[in-house]
Amino acid sequence: MKSLVAQTELVIVQGDLTQQEVEAIVNAANSRLMGGGGVDGAIHKAGGPQILVECKEIVNRQGSLPPGEAVITSGGNLKSAYVIHTVGPIWRGGNNNEAVLLKNAYNNSLKLAKENGIKTIAFPSISTGAYAYPLEQAAEIALSTVLDFIKKDTHFSEVRFILFNEDILNVYQKKCLSMI
Ligand code: ADP
Repeated sequence: MKSLVAQTELVIVQGDLTQQEVEAIVNAANSRLMGGGGVDGAIHKAGGPQILVECKEIVNRQGSLPPGEAVITSGGNLKSAYVIHTVGPIWRGGNNNEAVLLKNAYNNSLKLAKENGIKTIAFPSISTGAYAYPLEQAAEIALSTVLDFIKKDTHFSEVRFILFNEDILNVYQKKCLSMI
């Protein structure tokens, strides 16, 4: 689905994040920025070794990336010029600040994109794979955080959620319809 929210096209579709033609894709990374499984592994595989070189430089400079924070590298061989790496929270039952950290991951990614003049950006469903965040709750936070941002700030022309399968897509679309 596509909906215009203030000045920003909000797109929620099924697909492969690594194939998006947007200026930046957001990686659901881990704190060590070393690549791994899930969408992180797919991004490094599709983007080639340059992304990991830049991630290692960042970790050497500033140490591992705490949950909720975001950093930026080039996109290597991807169609996107940039990858924004953010770390979602690991679900530990819900009383360990998970909701705030997940919100921060989306907000800090949007802020960093804006600082870099990026106007089109695509997100995966952060924390809902290996990090086991309950999907409905994660979708609510993801969508409310992005909606709040694009209602207040008209910087972005397009924000996409690229959901990996139909079940995840359905949860995000249904949630979005109840919010806009
Ligand atoms: P996390 O560790 O933050 O949970 P994962 O990569 O394990 O990150 O999962 C996050 C989401 O990314 C999951 O919904 C997973 O299905 C999805 N995913 C995996 N590969 C891709 C891809 N190529 N494009 C979009 N989403 C993907």
